[in-house]
Order: sequence, then structure tokens, then C-alpha cells
Amino acid sequence: MNKKSLGINTICTHVGGIDDTQFKGAISPIYMSTSYAFDDVAIKRYPRYLNTPNQEALCKKIAALEKTESALIFGSGMAAISTTILSFLKQGDHIVLQQTLYGGTYNFVLEEFKKFGIEYSFTKDLDIISFKECIQPNTKVIYVETPSNPLLTITDLQAVSDLAKSKDIVTIIDNTFASPINQTPIDFRIDIMIHSATKYMGGHSDILAGAVATTNEFIEKIWNTAINLGGSLSDFTVWMLERSLKTMNLRVKCQSENALKMANYLESNPNIAKVYYPGLESHLNHELAKKQMKGFGGMLSFELNEGIDAVEFQRKLQLIKPSMSLAGVESTMLNPAVASHALLSPEERANQGITDGLIRFSVGIEETEDLIADIEQSLEQILK
Ligand SMILES: *Cc1c(COP(=O)(O)O)cnc(C)c1O
Repeated sequence: MNKKSLGINTICTHVGGIDDTQFKGAISPIYMSTSYAFDDVAIKRYPRYLNTPNQEALCKKIAALEKTESALIFGSGMAAISTTILSFLKQGDHIVLQQTLYGGTYNFVLEEFKKFGIEYSFTKDLDIISFKECIQPNTKVIYVETPSNPLLTITDLQAVSDLAKSKDIVTIIDNTFASPINQTPIDFRIDIMIHSATKYMGGHSDILAGAVATTNEFIEKIWNTAINLGGSLSDFTVWMLERSLKTMNLRVKCQSENALKMANYLESNPNIAKVYYPGLESHLNHELAKKQMKGFGGMLSFELNEGIDAVEFQRKLQLIKPSMSLAGVESTMLNPAVASHALLSPEERANQGITDGLIRFSVGIEETEDLIADIEQSLEQILK
């Protein structure tokens, strides 16, 4: 085709598939082999080497979505995160991490880094000055996550990459919450994009996977560490993920539209004390979100009025399920204080603004009228 750049739905459906030359089937065949004959000594295909036919094909789709040269896929988001971070740091190196991070990443830093002698600093807030203050002569990486979990705060990607580039520091973003549909950080010269593909890329709450997208040069560096750490995934999962990605734009667009409607509804509900959603004008970072995001995503959080028990409120919901994970086509809610952030101390939670009454809401593709009716009936039962 004589066209420079393909549309997003075309990339989702067509890029990185495998042609079924044998039967001309409509979808990619799945190759489950762990053993491939050598017809050329240079090609050693093996699932842990992340180079099976299905793995290589899917990486092309993910690279196209993040507008990078190359990508790698892993058995989980944490495998992608730990492998990428460890491939850029050695004993005595330093990394700057933003204050509000996914709980698993936070624990990885706290529990594993001391074993490797890697130094780290957490920024005291998301202002670029806090990032500057953390930088040391041995800083090799700046790691950000925006929008963040669970308060949907926004980090200024252009400011972070300008700061890093001026000091030869590599920038890594966990782009899970936005997905490549709502945010392509390479537009702001961020170097490496990571995803928990368990979330919006998978989108149906049935796949555990991770992805990294960046330059050929960095992918080679990450690959060298990846084959030693062994966080690869099954080709069946790869194949499922390829299928899921075909509808990612449709799903995420619908989820983002629904989340904006739900945020507006919740903000107007007198039983809700506060709503956090980057698409709301009341959100602290709304202007910045408008600048660097194409849509505001399907995640929001809110605080019930004091005196309304968050756990009781969720128990009385009929349609919206309480769930640890997020980003599925079905709406789910979670109470960070007792679930995703339960491992943090009460002081650490308070530091990050996570109160006991806070509820994180992963908005699905249902009609918002039905979601609103569910919330109304739960509140009615509690308040009567
Ligand atoms: C879920 C999640 C992860 C970890 O991904 P897994 O697939 O569970 O290993 C990392 N970052 C964010 C923002 C997440 O939501």
C-alpha cells in the first residue's frame, strides 16, 4: 500500500500477524514448538529467547502501536519491568523513581535493589523540581508512571525527558494505564515504554503478559538480560494477546468515553466527596493531561463521603465486581487501602494520598446508565 502511516484500527487488526500460507485461514496460525531444527546456525529459535514466530510477529504490532523500532513481550508486566530496569543498572548505579508507583514495582525496588547494590531515590512529589533534586552523578535511569495508580496524577513527560536528555539519563515509563491508544510517550522523547499487557492490551481479564517497546539498540540490551532472567511467555498467550489487540482501540475508546461520563456523574453525586479523573476540569493536572494524552483513559478513583463505608458500598454492588485487577471489558472496583496498596504502611499510604474511603474504578464497556443505576442502588441500601 502506498501510504506512509496506517490508522490505529488498521495497525491493531493487521500489523504483525502471521499469514496462514498452508490453509489461507483468516487468523495467525499458532506455533507452540519449543524446538526448531537448525537450517542456519545463526538462527536459534526458542521461547525463552523471545523469538518464536508468534512472539516475533506480535512484537511488530506492539512496536507499531508505540511508534518504536522494536519491542519484546514477557510473561507478566513485572517480568517486563524487572528485566528492563535490571538491564540498565549495575552495582553502584542510581535510579530516580517517581513517588507514586504501581505497588509491585515499589516492592521490587524496596526488596530487591539492596541485594544488587543498586541505589535509588523516590521523588517527593511529581513536580519536575523534585526529579532534579534526586539526580546524582551516578544516576542512569529515570522511571515514571503516568497516569499513576490509584489517584491518576500526571507526570510531565516533556519536562522529564528534557531533564534526562541533558544528563544522558535513560527514561522509562510504565504506560499501562493510558495504553498506546491514549498516550504515545515517544512523542515526548521518552526512551522506553513498558506495559502490563494483562491490562488494556489483554483487556478481557484472561491473559498475564508484559511488553517493552523502544529502539533496536535498547531492545538488544534488554534482550541480553531477558534470556538470563527467563521471564518469557507461552505462545498460546502470545496468540491470545494478538487477538485481544485487534479490538484494543475500540475497547479503550469506549472505556475512556464511559469513564468521562462516570466521572461527571460521580462529581455531581452529593454522596461522593471527591473524584480523581484527568479528564475532569477539577483535576489538578487537567491541562497537562490534555497536552500529552489523546484520551483520558478508563481508570478513575473517588472518595465516598465520610460515614459511608467503602467496603459495604462495594458489597452491595450487583453489576460492578470487586476485583484486584483492572482494564477488562467488565467494570470493576477496588479499595486500594485493603487491596492493591495493603502492603504499604499507613504512613506510606497517607503520603501518597490514599485514604481508607478511596475506591479505584476500572470502567468497562457496559452502558453507563446501567453502571449509574448500580451505584445508586448500592448507596440507597446503605443510606436508608
Ligand atoms: C498490573 C500492573 C503492573 C504489573 O503487571 P503484571 O502483569 O501484573 O505483572 C505494572 N504496572 C501497572 C501500572 C499495572 O497496573
